[in-house]
Amino acid sequence: MDKRILLIEDERKIAELVRDYLEQYGYRVKIIEDFTRVMEEFTAWQPHLVILDIHLPYQDGYYLCRRIRQLSAVPILFLSARKSEMEQIMGIESGGDDYITKPFDIEVLAAKVKAIFRRVYGEYAKKGKMDHTIVIGDLVLQIDQMALLFRDTKQSLTKNEVKLLHLLFEQAGRVVTREDCLEALWDEIDFVDDNTLTVNIARVRKKLSQWNLDDLIETKRGVGYRFNPSRLRGEKGK
Ligand code: CA
Repeated sequence: MDKRILLIEDERKIAELVRDYLEQYGYRVKIIEDFTRVMEEFTAWQPHLVILDIHLPYQDGYYLCRRIRQLSAVPILFLSARKSEMEQIMGIESGGDDYITKPFDIEVLAAKVKAIFRRVYGEYAKKGKMDHTIVIGDLVLQIDQMALLFRDTKQSLTKNEVKLLHLLFEQAGRVVTREDCLEALWDEIDFVDDNTLTVNIARVRKKLSQWNLDDLIETKRGVGYRFNPSRLRGEKGK
């Protein structure tokens, strides 16, 4: 299995040490260099684990953790200051899975990383496959199981519906062009055209409307579609 880690740590020496060490174990580690573009890097790299420092330029680790949690259930390991229990609590509260205190022993960090991979991906790693899910608010897209969950209920999805929702969820809040949607739907076997896209968007909307989640997917006439997660938050008040 391809094991990608995103390392968000502004102390370059520590970042390089961690990267070099973990790469010996077969992990592929990307270090953030431009801290104004962390979320873009996250979306592009699609990591299986995020190692997240707290004190960072521009935005702190708690804020980034919450942003990542709006998009993904990926495990997040915080790097917190030694003996700062407050930092550890805040890290977990903002959606982190575990933490390690600085200064840390590189072997202890590697052991934690391995444990997280085993716990989260172990069963799937053996099959050469990971359980890929994307969480937005109360909506959970289960890519491998081809299902969409909302609170305690589940609806099954077709292959095309999964591909579309995967793309729209990943780009949540942004307009996705029809061209990009078509590219996501493209298949070597089945014929895909503009009509396929329109029909599949309508089907996905119909499934969402069964949960009274209307207008989550907005049409941008002549451009494409936008998944608007703020409407999901609004729904809670009803
Ligand atoms: Ca730092």
